[in-house]
Amino acid sequence: MASDTNPYETFRTQVADAADALGVDGGTVDRLTRPDRVLETHISVEMDDGSVETFEAYRSQFNDARGPYKGGVRYHPQVTRDEVKALSGWMVYKCAAVNIPFGGGKGGIAFNPAEYSDSELERITRSYAEAIRPVIGVDRDIPAPDVNTGQREMNWIKDTYETLENTIEPGVVTGKAIDSGGSRGRVEATGRSVMLTSREAFEHLDMEMEGATVAVQGYGNAGSVAAKLIDDLGATIVAVSDSSGAIYDPDGLDAREVKSHKDETGQVVGYPEASEELTNEELLTMDVDLLVPAALENAIDRNLAERVQADVIVEAANGPLTNGADEVFAGRETRVFPDILANAGGVTVSYFEWVQNRQRFYWTESRVNDELEPIIVEAFDTLVDAYDTNDVDTYREAMYTVALERVARAATEGGIWP
Ligand code: GLU
Repeated sequence: MASDTNPYETFRTQVADAADALGVDGGTVDRLTRPDRVLETHISVEMDDGSVETFEAYRSQFNDARGPYKGGVRYHPQVTRDEVKALSGWMVYKCAAVNIPFGGGKGGIAFNPAEYSDSELERITRSYAEAIRPVIGVDRDIPAPDVNTGQREMNWIKDTYETLENTIEPGVVTGKAIDSGGSRGRVEATGRSVMLTSREAFEHLDMEMEGATVAVQGYGNAGSVAAKLIDDLGATIVAVSDSSGAIYDPDGLDAREVKSHKDETGQVVGYPEASEELTNEELLTMDVDLLVPAALENAIDRNLAERVQADVIVEAANGPLTNGADEVFAGRETRVFPDILANAGGVTVSYFEWVQNRQRFYWTESRVNDELEPIIVEAFDTLVDAYDTNDVDTYREAMYTVALERVARAATEGGIWP
């Protein structure tokens, strides 16, 4: 894998750039850019036809200086050790950016869940939960949903953990269904922080959201909710995509109806009201006011960045830009608002879920949304302050300086043992 597209290298460069701007010493940077440990395992699961299949599975626990390891579990054929290391590292700086008391973790299984039955997925998930059980816990490491996982998988992880531990501890995992101890507002939370970040960014840049043109790459949980809520701000969603391709309408797509179409057919392509179909690459290079990459890492590399025409990019996915893309955008002032702020609504409402689970006291949806908004707005303001004060080139670097200062302070205050 080229270093420009290895997500772990991308992550290390991002932290190192911020460390340079702050004058943090090399030893501390080294300490804060390596995971505490990575559990790499194989889980063997019986398939419906009686055969046995073995899957590569991981849980990376990156850093817990600010609180228990926290982060999702991803089901995707591209899951690798370096990918989960990067994703767990990003969680450390994301939780610090929005100042919630968690460290960072991430897990994954390398497979395509679309090729398996529901009962096979349940056995795969329960085997994974059994494998990570010794290292997770409500005060130790708290998994959550990520790409291709959701409430159903989290309910299975909770049930497996509680059964094996002979306890009731819903806060061992977040992103559960409401009746299994989930939080209201959790499903929409990632898209909501993408909307809040976009709204704050436009205000900061003196741009009008009303009538702004928007393209969204990826129409899963983050992308579809972000599109719907940005649409509600008065913007025009001109194009959206998923792995089937992209759809376009210069007069605006109805984000909710596109979601219903995707729920029914499994893809955005074929949505009857769209005026044209595009490739994903055509979507990413459209001349729009706002581009929201909401799929996977490395969506935009250096070469593609040269052709991106959007004025503002708000990252709903984790790590959608390579370092090469960042350099291109910094050179010509395309404004990029980073993942560790923009998609932090998900883990922030996971934090609220964990708090509710521990108190056994559950909030209304409006309370969840009312508590989320000031956290994202305050983190945005801190980013702008850091951009104005620190010697940084990009908003990403600015956000990393804020987060790195917090992580470094906690790690330094804790000292080195022994
Ligand atoms: N997977 C999500 C993320 O990347 C959510 C993590 C969580 O809620 O712990 O931020």
